[in-house]
Amino acid sequence: MCRHLGYVGPSVGVGEILTRGTHSLHHQSWAPRDMRGGGTINADGFGVAWWQEGAVRRYRNPAPIWTDPAVTDVLPQLTSGAVLGSVRSATVGMPVERSACAPFTAGRWAFSHNGVVPRWREVLTAVSSDLDVEATRAGATRLFETARLLEAEALTDSAVLWVLLSDLIASAESGGYGESPATALRLVAEAVLRHAPEARLTLLLGDGEQLLAVSVHHGLSALVTEDAAVLASEPYDDDPRWQPVADRKLVVARPGELSVDELTPT
Ligand code: GLN
Repeated sequence: MCRHLGYVGPSVGVGEILTRGTHSLHHQSWAPRDMRGGGTINADGFGVAWWQEGAVRRYRNPAPIWTDPAVTDVLPQLTSGAVLGSVRSATVGMPVERSACAPFTAGRWAFSHNGVVPRWREVLTAVSSDLDVEATRAGATRLFETARLLEAEALTDSAVLWVLLSDLIASAESGGYGESPATALRLVAEAVLRHAPEARLTLLLGDGEQLLAVSVHHGLSALVTEDAAVLASEPYDDDPRWQPVADRKLVVARPGELSVDELTPT
């Protein structure tokens, strides 16, 4: 499994968010506390996205985060009001390469997946065809060509999941099927769970202004104050305002606002 973190708030150094706190994301790469059976350390690369003038920027490296001097020498010099970072522990059988490191991006969105979709080739193909049927039934023109899945950046569950989710978010944002980005996230998560109830699916995404997440199996905590919102696999410090997010929730967070809804039970 991986560890990830999203931040929206006052402008900060991008590197500062990765190393913030006594139990920072950087620290969690080699000393995570709550892996829930998904490996021991997160040494298969890392990535970080941040936003400038509404556009998402990204830096990734398939080496362990603690080996990359850019984290302390370069990334702190870049500033942004939103950051989404991830350290990776590759699922067995999946490639260890830069293109498989989250965050994945599309438009102004950045995305990270903590978990695993079992039998992902079969399950995500079925999800794609389900979503296509549902979208067509709702009056949309054909949305999910299976061939789109071949455009995933890497041959991993997470990269293919992002093709499905980012297409549905784009559809929602253009007034089509999916309604809103949060609904798109819910539709994709619930479709995956229908085909693979044992899927581990803690998903985190941001557009520079808000954070959306789904918690399935792996941990998620929220720290929301009047001026900032953070969602993270594990709290990075002992601030008593951290709130654990229960399992199987859909979360929307922005400064001063945290909403937590049920995912539909499978
Ligand atoms: N299955 C994903 C990958 O291999 C995520 C892994 C994880 O959460 N450890 O990249």
